Amino acid sequence: MTVRITLVHGDITEQHADAIVNAANSSLLGGGGVDGAIHRRGGPEILAECRKLRASYYGRGLGTGQAVATTAGRLNARWVIHTVGPVYQASGSDPSLLASCYRESLRVADELGARTVAFPAISTGVYRWPMDDAARIAVETVRATDTAVEEVRFVLFDERAYQVFAELIH
Ligand code: ADP
Repeated sequence: MTVRITLVHGDITEQHADAIVNAANSSLLGGGGVDGAIHRRGGPEILAECRKLRASYYGRGLGTGQAVATTAGRLNARWVIHTVGPVYQASGSDPSLLASCYRESLRVADELGARTVAFPAISTGVYRWPMDDAARIAVETVRATDTAVEEVRFVLFDERAYQVFAELIH
């Protein structure tokens, strides 16, 4: 079955979904943007699990393009899937690492049995990836990934990001 892609203009922390994807950083210990919002609204349980991950398998942090799940705390979801996007560099950035964030998050979602997954536009904030290019990579990767996830919902914080995604999926 092919995954259904939907779009929402809004705040990802207000979504109801099986899993909410966090645009995390490799420390897994919080940051700004989506990361800050998820920890603020989801409460301390999420950070507590992230610390446990750092104390065990992810002692050196989560690598760029990888994904790992924790509880969703008080969010309206069962899991948060943390993934680390690549920082955009004008001198050259690897789009396969951004694609990997979507692919790996969906792989983790499949392991968990999640059927609805909400994604932010990974790497397009502090990590500066141009929205047009990031959106194209996001949509193409999700479409090309073999997954049991039924709905991938892109949650876009601002109107322009929403428009960019809307042009790609309609
Ligand atoms: P990154 O470090 O991967 O660039 P950011 O969190 O800085 O991650 O930004 C990723 C995208 O998420 C940006 O387009 C930003 O505008 C958007 N964003 C920020 N806060 C939220 C939120 N609460 N819900 C959905 N999207 C958000």
